[in-house]
Amino acid sequence: MRSGLAVAVAALVAVASAQNTCDLVASQTSIESYKRFEIQYTSEQTEYWSTSCGDLKPSCILMPTTAQEVAAIVSILGTNNESFAIKSGGHNPNNYFASIDGGPLISTKKLDQVILDPVAQTVRVGPGNRWDDVSAALDGSGYTAVGGRIGNVGVGGYMLGGGLSFMSTEYGWAANSVLEFELVLANASIVHVTESKYPDLFMALKGGGNNFGIVTSYLLQAYPQGDVWGGNLIFDATPEVTTAILAAVRDFTENYDDEKAGIIVTAERTLATLLDIWVIFLYYNGPEPPADVFDKFFAISKFKLNTCKTQSMNSLLSGNNWAVLKGSVYTIGTETMPLPNEANGAEVMQKIFDHWVNVSDTVKLVPGVVASVAFQPLPKKLAQVAKDKGGDMIDVDADIDRIVLELDYSFWPNGSYTEIDQTMQDTYSGFKTIVEDYQDSGLLPKDVYLPLFQNDCFYPQDYFGRLKPEKLALARRVQAEVDPKGFWKTRTGGFKIPSS
Ligand SMILES: Cc1cc2nc3c(=O)[nH]c(=O)nc-3n(C[C@H](O)[C@H](O)[C@H](O)COP(=O)(O)OP(=O)(O)OC[C@H]3O[C@@H](n4cnc5c(N)ncnc54)[C@H](O)[C@@H]3O)c2cc1C
Repeated sequence: MRSGLAVAVAALVAVASAQNTCDLVASQTSIESYKRFEIQYTSEQTEYWSTSCGDLKPSCILMPTTAQEVAAIVSILGTNNESFAIKSGGHNPNNYFASIDGGPLISTKKLDQVILDPVAQTVRVGPGNRWDDVSAALDGSGYTAVGGRIGNVGVGGYMLGGGLSFMSTEYGWAANSVLEFELVLANASIVHVTESKYPDLFMALKGGGNNFGIVTSYLLQAYPQGDVWGGNLIFDATPEVTTAILAAVRDFTENYDDEKAGIIVTAERTLATLLDIWVIFLYYNGPEPPADVFDKFFAISKFKLNTCKTQSMNSLLSGNNWAVLKGSVYTIGTETMPLPNEANGAEVMQKIFDHWVNVSDTVKLVPGVVASVAFQPLPKKLAQVAKDKGGDMIDVDADIDRIVLELDYSFWPNGSYTEIDQTMQDTYSGFKTIVEDYQDSGLLPKDVYLPLFQNDCFYPQDYFGRLKPEKLALARRVQAEVDPKGFWKTRTGGFKIPSS
């Protein structure tokens, strides 16, 4: 016979384990859940861009199929204090943002609808899609949604970070084309957030990350779409080519008025083999670009490869998936710079590039290390379209042209994370110092707003602190309204709103 104490202890243990979200979801709902060592669990854990996220081990992976099931999970989470994570495409490489060790992971993978309404010109998209799923579903429909430039990127996190698209100069950040967010709040209620019903929450979600709830679908404006033109140009990064490309991207950002064009200009160094290349991603919304649009890039005649052609949006986005190489630990970081004018362009752009080369050289012995830097135009025209479409948290003014610098370091051993972490911080901090020095010496415009682009931020970067004070205040106000107990703030990872 068991003693009274043993029975009491067993009862306590039972109560404690019943508080565990995975067990409660299993006992109280029919929501599918993958457990450790199951094939689906292992397979789901490979669906991260960075292997360091996939190496973290959630206690279970919950696979809701409806907003109601997400609400049921949130309701159960409300009965305990477990940390948890929400994952859509798993492309954010910051550990603990869409990944977790020990707590439950909510995967939105089965929230995967893509429903076009050609009459209303809208498309409802589940966060579990990747952008090539969306473009595949819309292929041949004559419509598109504003989304990722590389098909494999997930919809859920991309959208909540604002979303920079090839179509952004034409239609704004991807978030500017959201008409409604279906959202599960911390109190487990499901709300349909539109500009007219919840103006502040609607604004806060356009660049506010995972601070306000779990989005279970996005209703997006659909735009008429025919064939597009695009692909990649690849060059060896000789000094002459680098000078010409830096001049071309500066010129494109300042002078280029055709909102149907988009580019990403990326330099990449595979440090072990000393292979330095430039990869230019080109896009034009039409079967052929007008003659003058990309001339400066094509005038750099020594390209190794040119894959540009007329194709469907789905073919373009899927074709760009070659850039998603799995099997490495990834880190991402960013800084935003004002565009230098033509007279100062060569000096300023070269200084930025040289700083990146010099810092990345310091980690060349890290196994498998690849360094990349992308120059992403953020022209005045994009800022104006974003404002015209109702604005967002990023709230860039149309007073100056900017470039969003995006950095990646990828490498093989997780044991090198600390070294690369410091290198990443040194790289973007150095960019900031270069910009400030040129502002002081008059080569770059001073007193301009330079927010960080959340989707490219490294985990220590102060995304919210770099927003305009009124937007930070709005985020705090909305958080106090919809999450007074700090459910999302204290129990999930991601960029969190700093307390006042
Ligand atoms: C190869 C590559 C190309 C990229 N290209 C672009 C680009 O062209 N433009 C651009 O803007 N960005 C780009 N990014 C950055 C990308 O947008 C971000 O990494 C983004 O977070 C990825 O979205 P995801 O759904 O895959 O996010 P995940 O990694 O799944 O999640 C990221 C964050 O969002 C939260 N989240 C995810 N889904 C939800 C949801 N439904 N509700 C609430 N919170 C949620 C997570 O909790 C997490 O904090 C690229 C990244 C990579 C790796």
